[in-house]
Amino acid sequence: MSKAPAKPSTNQSVATASREAFAAWIDEAPEGRVFGQVLIRRDGEGGYSLRHRDDAGVVELDVHEEPREAREISKLTERGEYRPLKSSPNLRRGWELRMKDAHGLAVAMNYLYPAAQVHWHLYREGRLEVTSYRENAARQSGIYKRIQRLSDEGVQNAARACCKDAVCLKKTLWDVDEETPLAMDRGDGEIPCPEPCSVFVSFARRVRLFEREDRRDLDEIGLSPSEKEDLAALVETASAGKVEYAREAEFEEPLNERRLRYRRLTLLPKLRPAKSPKD
Ligand code: SF4
Repeated sequence: MSKAPAKPSTNQSVATASREAFAAWIDEAPEGRVFGQVLIRRDGEGGYSLRHRDDAGVVELDVHEEPREAREISKLTERGEYRPLKSSPNLRRGWELRMKDAHGLAVAMNYLYPAAQVHWHLYREGRLEVTSYRENAARQSGIYKRIQRLSDEGVQNAARACCKDAVCLKKTLWDVDEETPLAMDRGDGEIPCPEPCSVFVSFARRVRLFEREDRRDLDEIGLSPSEKEDLAALVETASAGKVEYAREAEFEEPLNERRLRYRRLTLLPKLRPAKSPKD
Protein backbone atom coordinates (compact mmCIF):
# COMPACT_ATOMS: atom_id res chain seq x y z
CA MET A 1 0.00 0.00 0.00
CA SER A 2 1.40 3.46 -0.80
CA LYS A 3 2.02 6.18 1.70
CA ALA A 4 0.55 9.63 1.15
CA PRO A 5 3.32 12.09 0.33
CA ALA A 6 4.19 14.55 3.08
CA LYS A 7 2.27 17.76 2.55
CA PRO A 8 3.44 21.23 3.53
CA SER A 9 0.11 21.66 5.37
CA THR A 10 1.36 19.36 8.16
CA ASN A 11 4.29 21.62 9.12
CA GLN A 12 4.85 23.13 12.53
CA SER A 13 3.05 26.43 11.93
CA VAL A 14 -0.08 24.65 10.70
CA ALA A 15 0.02 22.42 13.78
CA THR A 16 0.25 25.48 16.03
CA ALA A 17 -2.52 27.33 14.20
CA SER A 18 -4.73 24.23 14.33
CA ARG A 19 -4.16 23.81 18.04
CA GLU A 20 -5.06 27.44 18.75
CA ALA A 21 -8.12 27.42 16.49
CA PHE A 22 -9.37 24.18 18.02
CA ALA A 23 -8.95 25.46 21.59
CA ALA A 24 -10.75 28.70 20.67
CA TRP A 25 -13.61 26.68 19.16
CA ILE A 26 -13.99 24.80 22.44
CA ASP A 27 -13.62 27.98 24.53
CA GLU A 28 -16.53 29.70 22.81
CA ALA A 29 -18.97 26.84 23.59
CA PRO A 30 -20.05 26.86 27.27
CA GLU A 31 -21.67 23.42 26.92
CA GLY A 32 -18.59 21.99 25.24
CA ARG A 33 -18.14 20.48 21.79
CA VAL A 34 -18.45 16.96 20.42
CA PHE A 35 -15.65 15.88 18.08
CA GLY A 36 -16.01 12.33 16.85
CA GLN A 37 -17.29 10.55 19.96
CA VAL A 38 -15.44 12.82 22.37
CA LEU A 39 -17.11 15.54 24.44
CA ILE A 40 -14.64 18.35 25.24
CA ARG A 41 -15.43 20.98 27.88
CA ARG A 42 -13.54 23.75 29.69
CA ASP A 43 -12.86 22.72 33.28
CA GLY A 44 -13.00 26.13 34.99
CA GLU A 45 -9.26 26.11 35.77
CA GLY A 46 -7.96 26.95 32.30
CA GLY A 47 -7.82 23.33 31.24
CA TYR A 48 -10.00 20.87 29.34
CA SER A 49 -12.01 17.80 30.30
CA LEU A 50 -12.47 15.06 27.68
CA ARG A 51 -14.71 12.02 27.90
CA HIS A 52 -16.87 9.80 25.71
CA ARG A 53 -19.97 11.75 24.69
CA ASP A 54 -22.19 9.01 26.13
CA ASP A 55 -20.53 9.59 29.53
CA ALA A 56 -21.58 13.27 29.61
CA GLY A 57 -23.39 12.92 32.95
CA VAL A 58 -21.36 10.08 34.48
CA VAL A 59 -19.64 10.98 37.76
CA GLU A 60 -17.32 8.04 38.33
CA LEU A 61 -14.82 7.74 35.51
CA ASP A 62 -11.18 6.63 35.34
CA VAL A 63 -9.30 9.93 35.41
CA HIS A 64 -6.09 10.43 33.40
CA GLU A 65 -3.93 13.54 33.46
CA GLU A 66 -1.24 12.64 30.93
CA PRO A 67 -2.18 13.41 27.29
CA ARG A 68 -0.32 10.30 26.12
CA GLU A 69 -2.73 8.11 28.04
CA ALA A 70 -5.24 8.86 25.28
CA ARG A 71 -3.23 6.43 23.20
CA GLU A 72 -4.23 3.47 25.37
CA ILE A 73 -7.83 4.66 25.53
CA SER A 74 -8.05 4.78 21.74
CA LYS A 75 -6.35 1.46 21.12
CA LEU A 76 -9.04 -1.12 21.98
CA THR A 77 -12.82 -1.37 21.76
CA GLU A 78 -15.08 -2.10 24.71
CA ARG A 79 -14.72 -5.80 23.81
CA GLY A 80 -10.93 -5.53 23.84
CA GLU A 81 -10.45 -5.64 20.06
CA TYR A 82 -7.83 -3.53 18.29
CA ARG A 83 -9.24 -0.44 16.56
CA PRO A 84 -7.56 -0.13 13.13
CA LEU A 85 -9.70 2.92 12.27
CA LYS A 86 -9.80 5.53 15.00
CA SER A 87 -12.80 7.29 13.43
CA SER A 88 -15.01 4.21 13.79
CA PRO A 89 -17.83 4.80 16.28
CA ASN A 90 -16.44 2.20 18.68
CA LEU A 91 -14.42 4.31 21.13
CA ARG A 92 -14.69 2.73 24.57
CA ARG A 93 -16.32 4.52 27.51
CA GLY A 94 -15.51 4.97 31.19
CA TRP A 95 -12.57 7.43 31.12
CA GLU A 96 -11.89 11.12 31.58
CA LEU A 97 -8.83 12.99 30.35
CA ARG A 98 -8.04 16.17 32.27
CA MET A 99 -5.70 18.28 30.19
CA LYS A 100 -4.18 21.35 31.72
CA ASP A 101 -3.88 23.43 28.55
CA ALA A 102 -4.42 23.61 24.78
CA HIS A 103 -1.16 21.77 24.11
CA GLY A 104 -2.25 18.79 26.21
CA LEU A 105 -5.64 18.89 24.50
CA ALA A 106 -3.98 18.77 21.07
CA VAL A 107 -1.72 15.85 22.00
CA ALA A 108 -4.63 13.85 23.43
CA MET A 109 -6.85 14.58 20.42
CA ASN A 110 -4.10 13.48 18.09
CA TYR A 111 -4.07 10.05 19.75
CA LEU A 112 -7.85 9.80 19.75
CA TYR A 113 -8.23 11.07 16.15
CA PRO A 114 -4.85 11.21 14.37
CA ALA A 115 -4.39 14.28 12.13
CA ALA A 116 -8.05 15.21 12.58
CA GLN A 117 -7.41 18.54 14.29
CA VAL A 118 -5.17 19.76 11.45
CA HIS A 119 -7.64 18.53 8.80
CA TRP A 120 -10.50 20.20 10.68
CA HIS A 121 -8.62 23.51 10.75
CA LEU A 122 -7.54 23.43 7.09
CA TYR A 123 -11.05 22.45 5.98
CA ARG A 124 -12.56 25.39 7.84
CA GLU A 125 -10.03 27.65 6.15
CA GLY A 126 -10.75 26.17 2.72
CA ARG A 127 -7.15 24.92 2.41
CA LEU A 128 -7.55 21.17 2.84
CA GLU A 129 -6.20 19.26 -0.17
CA VAL A 130 -8.53 16.49 -1.31
CA THR A 131 -7.36 13.40 -3.22
CA SER A 132 -9.85 11.40 -5.28
CA TYR A 133 -10.10 7.62 -5.27
CA ARG A 134 -8.53 7.37 -8.76
CA GLU A 135 -5.57 9.57 -7.76
CA ASN A 136 -5.04 7.49 -4.64
CA ALA A 137 -5.38 4.21 -6.55
CA ALA A 138 -2.81 5.36 -9.13
CA ARG A 139 -0.22 5.56 -6.33
CA GLN A 140 -0.83 2.00 -5.08
CA SER A 141 1.63 -0.83 -5.69
CA GLY A 142 2.01 -4.53 -4.95
CA ILE A 143 -1.19 -6.36 -3.97
CA TYR A 144 -3.10 -3.07 -3.80
CA LYS A 145 -2.40 -2.10 -7.39
CA ARG A 146 -5.48 -4.09 -8.44
CA ILE A 147 -7.79 -1.49 -6.87
CA GLN A 148 -7.01 0.62 -9.95
CA ARG A 149 -9.37 -1.69 -11.85
CA LEU A 150 -12.30 -1.35 -9.44
CA SER A 151 -15.30 -0.03 -11.38
CA ASP A 152 -16.95 3.29 -10.53
CA GLU A 153 -19.96 1.35 -9.25
CA GLY A 154 -17.64 -0.73 -7.08
CA VAL A 155 -16.09 2.42 -5.59
CA GLN A 156 -19.55 3.86 -4.89
CA ASN A 157 -20.76 0.71 -3.15
CA ALA A 158 -17.49 0.31 -1.23
CA ALA A 159 -17.81 3.89 0.05
CA ARG A 160 -21.44 3.35 1.10
CA ALA A 161 -20.45 0.18 2.92
CA CYS A 162 -17.23 1.50 4.48
CA CYS A 163 -17.53 5.27 5.04
CA LYS A 164 -21.03 6.16 6.22
CA ASP A 165 -21.62 7.40 9.77
CA ALA A 166 -22.72 3.96 10.97
CA VAL A 167 -19.14 2.73 10.53
CA CYS A 168 -16.97 5.87 10.25
CA LEU A 169 -17.61 9.30 11.77
CA LYS A 170 -15.59 11.27 9.25
CA LYS A 171 -17.20 13.45 6.60
CA THR A 172 -16.16 11.93 3.28
CA LEU A 173 -14.84 14.74 1.05
CA TRP A 174 -13.19 12.75 -1.74
CA ASP A 175 -14.87 11.58 -4.95
CA VAL A 176 -14.36 8.74 -7.39
CA ASP A 177 -12.60 11.20 -9.72
CA GLU A 178 -12.96 14.83 -10.75
CA GLU A 179 -16.09 14.14 -12.82
CA THR A 180 -17.70 11.49 -10.63
CA PRO A 181 -18.88 12.52 -7.16
CA LEU A 182 -19.65 9.98 -4.49
CA ALA A 183 -23.43 9.51 -4.53
CA MET A 184 -24.04 9.11 -0.82
CA ASP A 185 -24.66 10.94 2.43
CA ARG A 186 -21.14 12.07 3.31
CA GLY A 187 -21.76 12.30 7.06
CA ASP A 188 -22.47 14.98 9.64
CA GLY A 189 -19.32 14.80 11.74
CA GLU A 190 -16.73 17.51 12.37
CA ILE A 191 -13.77 15.48 11.10
CA PRO A 192 -13.14 15.74 7.37
CA CYS A 193 -11.77 12.81 5.36
CA PRO A 194 -9.70 14.19 2.45
CA GLU A 195 -8.50 10.90 0.94
CA PRO A 196 -9.32 7.17 0.98
CA CYS A 197 -7.64 5.72 4.09
CA SER A 198 -5.70 2.45 4.35
CA VAL A 199 -8.77 0.59 5.71
CA PHE A 200 -10.79 1.75 2.71
CA VAL A 201 -8.02 0.74 0.29
CA SER A 202 -7.94 -2.72 1.85
CA PHE A 203 -11.73 -2.96 1.58
CA ALA A 204 -11.62 -1.76 -2.05
CA ARG A 205 -9.21 -4.60 -2.80
CA ARG A 206 -11.71 -7.09 -1.42
CA VAL A 207 -14.56 -5.53 -3.43
CA ARG A 208 -12.42 -5.79 -6.57
CA LEU A 209 -12.08 -9.54 -5.88
CA PHE A 210 -15.88 -9.75 -5.59
CA GLU A 211 -16.25 -7.92 -8.91
CA ARG A 212 -13.95 -10.36 -10.68
CA GLU A 213 -15.94 -13.27 -9.29
CA ASP A 214 -19.19 -11.66 -10.44
CA ARG A 215 -17.87 -11.61 -13.99
CA ARG A 216 -16.78 -15.21 -14.27
CA ASP A 217 -17.96 -17.51 -11.44
CA LEU A 218 -21.73 -17.13 -11.11
CA ASP A 219 -23.84 -20.25 -10.62
CA GLU A 220 -27.17 -20.98 -12.29
CA ILE A 221 -29.04 -18.67 -9.90
CA GLY A 222 -26.53 -15.85 -10.28
CA LEU A 223 -24.64 -16.12 -6.98
CA SER A 224 -20.87 -15.98 -6.74
CA PRO A 225 -18.84 -18.37 -4.52
CA SER A 226 -18.15 -15.69 -1.90
CA GLU A 227 -21.82 -14.65 -1.79
CA LYS A 228 -22.78 -18.25 -1.08
CA GLU A 229 -20.02 -18.47 1.54
CA ASP A 230 -21.36 -15.35 3.29
CA LEU A 231 -24.96 -16.57 3.21
CA ALA A 232 -23.95 -19.97 4.60
CA ALA A 233 -21.95 -18.33 7.42
CA LEU A 234 -24.88 -16.09 8.29
CA VAL A 235 -27.42 -18.92 8.39
CA GLU A 236 -25.07 -21.12 10.37
CA THR A 237 -24.26 -18.56 13.06
CA ALA A 238 -27.78 -17.08 13.23
CA SER A 239 -29.34 -20.52 13.64
CA ALA A 240 -26.96 -21.13 16.57
CA GLY A 241 -28.01 -17.76 18.07
CA LYS A 242 -24.48 -16.31 18.09
CA VAL A 243 -24.02 -13.82 15.26
CA GLU A 244 -20.96 -11.67 16.00
CA TYR A 245 -19.05 -9.47 13.63
CA ALA A 246 -15.52 -10.45 12.64
CA ARG A 247 -12.74 -7.99 13.47
CA GLU A 248 -13.09 -4.61 11.83
CA ALA A 249 -10.48 -4.86 9.07
CA GLU A 250 -10.73 -8.62 8.44
CA PHE A 251 -12.51 -8.28 5.11
CA GLU A 252 -11.76 -11.88 4.17
CA GLU A 253 -14.22 -12.96 6.90
CA PRO A 254 -17.88 -13.48 5.82
CA LEU A 255 -19.25 -11.80 8.96
CA ASN A 256 -17.21 -8.61 8.68
CA GLU A 257 -19.56 -5.63 9.19
CA ARG A 258 -18.44 -3.65 6.13
CA ARG A 259 -18.53 -6.78 3.99
CA LEU A 260 -22.12 -7.43 5.11
CA ARG A 261 -23.03 -3.81 4.41
CA TYR A 262 -21.65 -4.30 0.90
CA ARG A 263 -23.71 -7.49 0.50
CA ARG A 264 -26.80 -5.57 1.52
CA LEU A 265 -26.18 -3.26 -1.44
CA THR A 266 -25.24 -5.90 -4.00
CA LEU A 267 -26.68 -9.25 -2.88
CA LEU A 268 -30.13 -8.23 -1.63
CA PRO A 269 -31.11 -6.83 -5.07
CA LYS A 270 -30.38 -10.28 -6.54
CA LEU A 271 -32.40 -12.07 -3.85
CA ARG A 272 -35.27 -9.59 -3.55
CA PRO A 273 -35.28 -7.39 -6.70
CA ALA A 274 -38.51 -5.64 -5.72
CA LYS A 275 -37.10 -4.44 -2.38
CA SER A 276 -33.64 -3.19 -3.28
CA PRO A 277 -32.00 -0.96 -0.65
CA LYS A 278 -31.39 2.60 -1.84
CA ASP A 279 -27.97 2.92 -0.21
S1 SF4 B 1 -11.90 6.63 3.69
FE1 SF4 B 1 -13.91 6.20 4.54
S2 SF4 B 1 -13.51 4.76 6.21
FE2 SF4 B 1 -11.56 5.75 5.73
S3 SF4 B 1 -11.46 7.50 7.14
FE3 SF4 B 1 -12.33 8.22 5.21
S4 SF4 B 1 -14.55 8.15 5.51
FE4 SF4 B 1 -13.59 6.85 7.09
